[in-house]
Amino acid sequence: MKPIIGIIPSLENESVRVHRDYTDSVRRAGGLPFILPYSTDDEDFNQMADQVDGLLLTGGGDIDPSLFGEDPLPGLGPITPERDHLEIRMIRLMLNRGSPIFAICRGCQILNVAAGGDMYQDLDSQLDGLLQHTQQAPRYHASHKIRVVKPSLLYQITGEESFKVNSFHHQAVKEPAPGFVVSARTADGVIEAIESRSHPFVLGVQWHPENMTATDALAHRLFQAFIEACRRKKGQRAARISGRSEN
Ligand code: MN
Repeated sequence: MKPIIGIIPSLENESVRVHRDYTDSVRRAGGLPFILPYSTDDEDFNQMADQVDGLLLTGGGDIDPSLFGEDPLPGLGPITPERDHLEIRMIRLMLNRGSPIFAICRGCQILNVAAGGDMYQDLDSQLDGLLQHTQQAPRYHASHKIRVVKPSLLYQITGEESFKVNSFHHQAVKEPAPGFVVSARTADGVIEAIESRSHPFVLGVQWHPENMTATDALAHRLFQAFIEACRRKKGQRAARISGRSEN
């Protein structure tokens, strides 16, 4: 049985939507993607967190700054409070269960906010001397370098101290949340990846590896490492359930 990967879709004009690069990348790495619904029922949240072996957080629009105690700046784009709410609740349930989370772009930021951290609403108006983080090149093209922190989960997975990634963001993590550390930055100091110190696999990346898994070995390896962690979690849960039934 493949591990089940819960994916929270975006909510746009009353439609839920996931780019197929996410589901294709999960499938390519051996996982079975399940799109999660926009529910407001407490029981649904608990059941979703119990049923999935890992959570994939996808890219999308901006995040409500009131979630990290700020008023909106002029550069803030469209926000989706309902999506913020669903993601934050699922992240906290998964963190409590020690379940794997792979968080991409917006997902990296909402992961940090859910864990009690903050973020930049609009990099260009809040920081000077930035590289281009909204690339004009095709989505699969790796445009800027990142420097990977050693030791880190990200380094353990990639084995690279530096590599190039794509970039489509005007927001970013400001300071990692309590219990989290920076695992990569660009040369301008922008945080490009964070990870939990106390969970086996909770990783947020600011770039879009799902657009690169067909052509880029490192991007595919990130998904493989995530799915592998989900497979281990699935095994632990199965062992616990069979242990219970023997008692
Ligand atoms: Mn970037």
